[in-house]
Amino acid sequence: MKIAVAKEIDPLEPRVAASPDTVKKFKALGAEVVIEPGAGIKSGVPDAEFTAAGATVSADALKDADIIIKVKRPEASELANYRRGALVFAIMDPYGNDAALKAMADAGIASFAMELMPRITRAQVMDVLSSQANLAGYRAVIEGAEAFGRAFPMMMTAAGTVPATKVFVMGVGVAGLQAIATARRLGAIVSATDVRPATKEQVESLGAKFLAVEDEEFKNAQTAGGYAKEMSKEYQAKQAALTAEHIKKQDVIITTALIPGRPAPRLVTMEMVKSMRPGSVLVDLAVERGGNVEGVKLGETVEIDGVKIIGFPNLAGRVAASASGLYARNLFAFIETMIDKKEKTLAVNWDDELVKATALTKDGAIIHPNFQPKA
Ligand code: NAD
Repeated sequence: MKIAVAKEIDPLEPRVAASPDTVKKFKALGAEVVIEPGAGIKSGVPDAEFTAAGATVSADALKDADIIIKVKRPEASELANYRRGALVFAIMDPYGNDAALKAMADAGIASFAMELMPRITRAQVMDVLSSQANLAGYRAVIEGAEAFGRAFPMMMTAAGTVPATKVFVMGVGVAGLQAIATARRLGAIVSATDVRPATKEQVESLGAKFLAVEDEEFKNAQTAGGYAKEMSKEYQAKQAALTAEHIKKQDVIITTALIPGRPAPRLVTMEMVKSMRPGSVLVDLAVERGGNVEGVKLGETVEIDGVKIIGFPNLAGRVAASASGLYARNLFAFIETMIDKKEKTLAVNWDDELVKATALTKDGAIIHPNFQPKA
């Protein structure tokens, strides 16, 4: 059983899918682990640390591997090096990427989208959305603090008092909760909003103020899966009216609002951006799904009347060493369930709900029900 760790070919992806710790764990299960040279460099893990953990390093790592682990979905040029029948694990970004799914099917690999992992207790340890969103929320506050020309905590000094920064977090999922906690640790005065009623208590328990239109629609905004519904035009208008006044008085805004399978909701209009004081900063975590802030640009910092809108993608990648370590543990926990510990061989249970939820392609076909080619 050979497990290969791929080096990411996307120059903007610094994360790696294994750590010395998970290499040791895979070895203990009887696997051979081979690393592509330099795979961990951008996450602060040199090849020597992988070899010290029991891996080998080889430019041919992927060729005859039974399992390939990586961060991003493999591109056509990478698939050409994979053995047919190999199991490939990555963050696959499958929505709207039909051609890429077909390419993986045609390559004959069994591909698994880690981000489709069900959010059930058993799979918490495999939840890449949470492990990465948590770090992205943290990093968003660091980016905001870096771009803001004032200190976050209140400081009373002989030369005068520095007021505390006001931070507003819009969208309180995993990333938003960590953003609140991080901003609080830095001494900011924090408020937050969300459309799911369950978040009110979470926000308050972190010492932040909750702000939302708490009408009938709000009471039913959470789906059975724990996600937000897309809100009505009427609700959105009420929400905008409430937040508009608040936004005028904020220094740093972190937006994280998402709705599964839909474009990100627009929460901050250009008028609201312009109502903020020059020097204020917005960090839009939803930029890769269209953005919560009007005017945000992917990969750029836009300045409008002295207000900065930060649209960096892959914020977890900006804490690459931590993000890689957690992602590697998520992968190990899932793959471990596919290994027969006595025989030390691969034994995938294709009826397992975790496998069914994440498997995209197998034996030349797209097998996931949500991504069947249209007739
Ligand atoms: P997400 O990334 O899908 O969305 C981020 C937040 O944006 C959500 O809180 C959502 O309610 C909010 N949002 C959507 N539309 C909005 C709007 N118009 N205005 C303001 N906010 C808006 O969320 P997530 O971080 O993936 O978390 C989703 C849920 O999953 C949460 O309930 C979380 O606690 C839960 N969860 C469960 C597990 C588990 O049980 N294993 C693990 C992680 C997360």
